[in-house]
Amino acid sequence: LGLPSPPPELEDDDDAFPKIRSESVDNLIRSGILDAAIASAANEPDAEAAFFVADLGQIYRQHKRWQQCLPNVTPFYAVKANPDRVVLRLLAALGTGFDCASMNEINMVAELGVTPNRVIFANPCKPTSFVKHAARMGVDMTTFDNEDELYKISRAHPRAKLILRILTDDSKSLCRLGLKFGASLVAVPTLLAKAVELGLNVVGVSFHVGSGCYDSDAFADAIARAKKAFVMGQEAGYQFSLLDVGGGFESEHFEESATVLAKALETHFGDFTGQIIAEPGRFYVAEAFTLATNIIARRGPERSVLEQQEIDEEDDNDNPRVMYYLNDGIYSSFNCILFDHQIVSPFCLTVGKVLVDGSSTSLSAAQAPPLVTSSLWGPTCDSIDCVMARVKLPGGLQVGDWLGFRKMGAYTICAASSFNGFDRTKVVYTVGEELVAIESLLVPATAL
Ligand code: PLP
Repeated sequence: LGLPSPPPELEDDDDAFPKIRSESVDNLIRSGILDAAIASAANEPDAEAAFFVADLGQIYRQHKRWQQCLPNVTPFYAVKANPDRVVLRLLAALGTGFDCASMNEINMVAELGVTPNRVIFANPCKPTSFVKHAARMGVDMTTFDNEDELYKISRAHPRAKLILRILTDDSKSLCRLGLKFGASLVAVPTLLAKAVELGLNVVGVSFHVGSGCYDSDAFADAIARAKKAFVMGQEAGYQFSLLDVGGGFESEHFEESATVLAKALETHFGDFTGQIIAEPGRFYVAEAFTLATNIIARRGPERSVLEQQEIDEEDDNDNPRVMYYLNDGIYSSFNCILFDHQIVSPFCLTVGKVLVDGSSTSLSAAQAPPLVTSSLWGPTCDSIDCVMARVKLPGGLQVGDWLGFRKMGAYTICAASSFNGFDRTKVVYTVGEELVAIESLLVPATAL
């Protein structure tokens, strides 16, 4: 495979801040593969371990995009999307707020020195102990959407700044959240009357159009509903000072969504002097993480070419002929296929143990042997652990080859398990071309 550049640090000492590099993602992946090849030749156990490369420069660029398109909307990063501590640290340094859903998430951002006024406890249905913890930590902003939560908060955190989460149309999103959360507008007057009765301080309104929203008009519709809730607030005697437009932003449609949102804000909240915040998760992290996985086992092709030709004529040549087993699967990083409704897409990093040219790491561009219909499986003993039931891959792929997957930063690592005793996939960090911009934000804890 040739001589490697210095290998990335795949061993991450939990106490130390991980080393951050400035190479391009592709180079870092290549050096990771070379490193694994050398370790494997030396018979080191787990030499072929899968790894992520996280490009902090990409997260920085997303933040700049946000500031440019929505300068009046403060992002409170949704920690649930990816609670990676280096990511959190970068975002804290960039000055975002944080949307936390649990006691541990609140603790994670507090440990970074984030002040409680930069945190919203945005879970409308919380255990009482978590509400008490938020009170102790000075985290006052929290959402609610039902009467029981009001009673709970009046006992556990009476000085909380409450934000009413309303139901909006989430039918144009990958993950519909309205099935579980959000008060319909008809329920709002009663809820606000109860809040008044309990002497609670309701400061504003929030919504979530659903995660992975692919129709920007959902934001306009939601803002119009939020305006109605603001009027109801006034009728109940409140003067709301906060509007939270939630998450749901897709990087692919971001400029369009931001334009629709900004226009709706101008129309319905043009004279609003309070604070406008959002809870983007996926937008910040999805594209920043690339996953490199190793083919640890293969089954087939077992038939002779003649046999296969006969079968192909009958079944349209579309049944998987080769099964590849990867060292990451549905129970780990690819849980996004089940929980986040994602369809992942591989590219070849090596074919026949030869590195695919770094400038053409897409399958179509690779100088690869003819494509064969294949299936991809995770490493566990469960048959649900199927990453792709059908995908065209070069026939020359072998055990020991590497496949990459881009856009694996959101709702992947955070929900990974260690089922069957497989370790969660480690992360290697780079700042890429944003070295100068990011260096000062992460220094002195990093070694660039
Ligand atoms: N805010 C809340 C309350 C959520 O439940 C979620 C996702 O589930 C988010 C923000 C982040 O959403 P997204 O990653 O789509 O931006």
